[in-house]
Amino acid sequence: MRIGVPREIKPQEFRVGLMPDGVRDLVAHGHHVVVEAGAGIGIDATDEDYRGAGAVVLGDADAVFDQADMIVKVKEPQAVERARLRPDQILFTYLHLAPDEPQTSELIASGTTCIAYETITDAHGGLPLLKPMSQVAGRLSVQAGARALERAQGGRGLLLGGVPGVGPARVAVIGGGVVGENAVEMALGLGADVTVLDRNPAALERLAHRFGAALTTLYASRATLERTVIDADMVIGAVLVAGAGAPKLVSRDMVARMRKGTVLVDVAIDQGGCFDTSRATTHDEPTFIVEDVVHYCVANMPGAVPLTSTQALTNATLPFVLRLADQGWRAALKADPHLRRGLNVAGGQVTCQPVAEAQGLPF
Ligand code: NAD
Repeated sequence: MRIGVPREIKPQEFRVGLMPDGVRDLVAHGHHVVVEAGAGIGIDATDEDYRGAGAVVLGDADAVFDQADMIVKVKEPQAVERARLRPDQILFTYLHLAPDEPQTSELIASGTTCIAYETITDAHGGLPLLKPMSQVAGRLSVQAGARALERAQGGRGLLLGGVPGVGPARVAVIGGGVVGENAVEMALGLGADVTVLDRNPAALERLAHRFGAALTTLYASRATLERTVIDADMVIGAVLVAGAGAPKLVSRDMVARMRKGTVLVDVAIDQGGCFDTSRATTHDEPTFIVEDVVHYCVANMPGAVPLTSTQALTNATLPFVLRLADQGWRAALKADPHLRRGLNVAGGQVTCQPVAEAQGLPF
């Protein structure tokens, strides 16, 4: 199969669909890979690196789309990219179609077979191609929050781990899923005093088992949550209710009662945020202050570390790319019901129930 990797064109997107190592694996399986010149610029991979791995580097996106049987990307195709798609092609990327009517109707019209990273499942009920980005965001949340705690950033002027003779900062993590677990790991690693709150007893049990007495686990009742966040120096919002907006768990009144310079990191901002006072920010201006409390609310946190993020993402996507290329999409999807769940649009129809329901389309 001929696999095409265009340069990502969405603003502030520095990741890329395949790294040179992934190209090498595909070539070893007998496939051809075409890569747009400059596609790896955001991750320090040169055209020469791609050529060295066995790819052919083409001058522009038109040529890549023209030659490819399967397009492998990161972000949903932009309008100019959608116009290049053909019925005989496979598109494999993040799509997030449910809230995006214009994209959905243009993908239907394209006739292209569109497989979305975010709806592929695994045997444990997880979403294996979303997980790596949650891992990155969870780890980054502590790094970003620690910086925001510095005085010059408006923070309390606290070092997360303290020093011998001086106590550590108190970190509260709301939500003990993938983001929460990774945040806990980093915060404990830096020596903070960490509490995690969740409503799912199984999540608390898993974290208690993993981190032992170093971590305080609390059931997230209203009263417990209120007491814990008001007492914290840093609060990380990491909740998710599948298929819904993030629940607003921390009211403006609670924020007003926090100490001056407390830091809130709202990782759940991509689902609307779990603090009443949150609004989405960008990497250019990641923080703002409300009620003397510093808010970090970047909606695409993994974009800050595209090198790590691309490696993590492509580690997870490459096995699927290989299977789609080796077997063809029909046989690959037939053999794996989890990969089948990734199919969002095919033959001019929506093939993913939640997307069809969200947009009132037949399924
Ligand atoms: P997850 O499903 O693994 O974990 C979510 C956890 O929240 C679960 O353990 C759940 O029990 C818990 N929860 C739900 N409601 C709760 C409540 N009322 N009180 C306490 N806990 C509650 O999800 P995840 O992968 O960890 O993602 C968490 C959030 O981070 C999502 O909104 C996701 O979209 C977001 N995210 C943001 C970025 C970014 O760049 N900002 C990147 C990756 C993920």
